[in-house]
Amino acid sequence: MARQWRCKECDTLLGIENGARLYLRYKQAQYVVDGGDYNIIAVCRNCFTVNERNSTNESPPPLAVNA
Ligand SMILES: [Zn+2]
Repeated sequence: MARQWRCKECDTLLGIENGARLYLRYKQAQYVVDGGDYNIIAVCRNCFTVNERNSTNESPPPLAVNA
């Protein structure tokens, strides 16, 4: 179940989300983000808008202290 992650301003494709993984590609380089919680900030290559995303797709959790 892949979902596309697009720029919120200009709809440029930033990456593909497939389950727990997020695939990002830029020219010849490809990045795969994996392994639970992540928080990604991507600057759109087209309009330079800052797009932010995290693995839960909800508001970021508070900075919890692991007690
Ligand atoms: Zn954009």
